[in-house]
Amino acid sequence: MGIRTGNEYIESLRDHRTVYVSGSRIEDVTAHPPFKGIINTLAALYDLQREHPRELTFPSPANKQPVAASFLVAKTAAEVEFRIRAEQMRADFNYGLMGRMPDFCNALVTDLATGSDDLGARDSRLGANMVRYYEQCREEDLCLTHTLVDPQIDRSRGPADQSDPFLVLRPVRETDRGVIVRGAKMLSTLAPFSNELLVAPFMPRHSGEEDYAISFALPCDTPGLKFICRESYDDGRGDFDRPLTSHYDEEDALAVFEDVLVPWERMFIYRDIEIYNSIMMKRLGYTQLQACIRGFAKLKFLTGLACHIGEAIGRTEALHVRAQIGELVAKVELIHGLVRFGAQEVAESKAAAVPPPAISATLWVLIPQTQLQAIQLIRELSGSGLILTPTANDFANPEIAAYLDKYLRSKTLSARDRVQLFKLAWDMIGEPFGSRQLQYEWFYAGDPYYTRSRFYGLPMVQDYKDIVTRLLHRGK
Ligand SMILES: Cc1cc2nc3c(=O)[nH]c(=O)nc-3n(C[C@H](O)[C@H](O)[C@H](O)COP(=O)(O)OP(=O)(O)OC[C@H]3O[C@@H](n4cnc5c(N)ncnc54)[C@H](O)[C@@H]3O)c2cc1C
Repeated sequence: MGIRTGNEYIESLRDHRTVYVSGSRIEDVTAHPPFKGIINTLAALYDLQREHPRELTFPSPANKQPVAASFLVAKTAAEVEFRIRAEQMRADFNYGLMGRMPDFCNALVTDLATGSDDLGARDSRLGANMVRYYEQCREEDLCLTHTLVDPQIDRSRGPADQSDPFLVLRPVRETDRGVIVRGAKMLSTLAPFSNELLVAPFMPRHSGEEDYAISFALPCDTPGLKFICRESYDDGRGDFDRPLTSHYDEEDALAVFEDVLVPWERMFIYRDIEIYNSIMMKRLGYTQLQACIRGFAKLKFLTGLACHIGEAIGRTEALHVRAQIGELVAKVELIHGLVRFGAQEVAESKAAAVPPPAISATLWVLIPQTQLQAIQLIRELSGSGLILTPTANDFANPEIAAYLDKYLRSKTLSARDRVQLFKLAWDMIGEPFGSRQLQYEWFYAGDPYYTRSRFYGLPMVQDYKDIVTRLLHRGK
């Protein structure tokens, strides 16, 4: 089948999925007004592949039909470069604001399929299931999302020691056709707009938690699977008043499994703690690289926003403002360099190191910190401009429009353009959409203290310590 059109993608969402938002069941997600903006954005991403097949697709190994670049198992440096350029073009297309654009999970299933030997180490059928699943996603150009984390109920206890052992997703019983599972997963971004849900391993499991060491994938309209979404941020305020919310609100949902059948052929890890705990860290080269590329796209956007604001209100002549923006540019360029270096690690298959230092440091430390810095800078630069942003309706009212035009213009912009710029900034950092963006980046890779602490365990830490030991022992 190969790549789909945007319309084909939209049509594919008209199935029997069970989605709740603000207390109501949504029968057809494509007709729910707050979902229209993001669905159109996703459809545009599908159309983009049709418009740029040379840049964004490669011939399927199965039938030579064009398939998405993010499924490419790159064998040469040039092929890694091709993947990067494609993912960069698509991340730039939505300003890096969509953590779950399809490229991300495409990269994840590609990573997992290339690690099928590890998945199938004890039962080769499980590895083969992943390869077949990857091929199906690639050939049908499916939109995937994933869910990893257990409900947050009581983090001081393991999944088996919660008040009810079925709070966290686990098998109930086996049948000839597969495994019946029950429980929940805490968060699944993009779930209402995805074709498939991949339940992937994440939180380390311990001895006695075998039932919680499972991984599988299901179509989002599987009977018994329910998505309970957070409230939609897009309340119909439109392009002028909410320029980002109205296009990029990916949604997040609690995934509830009410005695759901997982067919055996969709099972990838089954009651195997060792494989569950090791597979993600062994095989995340393409996934992490895509996430870095997307994070870099967002930082470029935030830095450009800071520049526009400073220039609009005539502040960029001040040395301290130039220095603040300059520091941000330096960090974004540093990240750019690290992404390039990380790509080299992937090309040389070094990404299997745990953790791959260049990519992980970029993703787990530098991107969230730099995003925080960019947001703080935009707040500082903007002052009250960030707050006094009349609506499209205000500009349409002739009784007050002339005052707005007169008093809200900037050094370089008309009042309407200046307000539009500050509204963009407020949507990015002040509105629920923007607050979520920061929360997302901070928690993208899991508990940020855990991810950072992993660096303390790297072998080079001993080298650093030895330098000091040498000095302390000088002359002794
Ligand atoms: C916007 C957004 C979108 C997301 N999308 C997805 C998605 O699509 N799919 C998905 O699977 N997940 C998603 N996640 C979930 C993400 O993976 C988790 O947020 C992340 O793994 C952290 O888990 P948690 O939220 O349960 O926080 P917790 O692990 O409960 O951590 C909460 C806090 O407790 C601290 N803490 C941890 N251990 C201890 C301890 N021993 N003592 C004291 N404090 C401790 C942590 O450092 C942290 O500050 C998303 C999260 C966000 C915010």
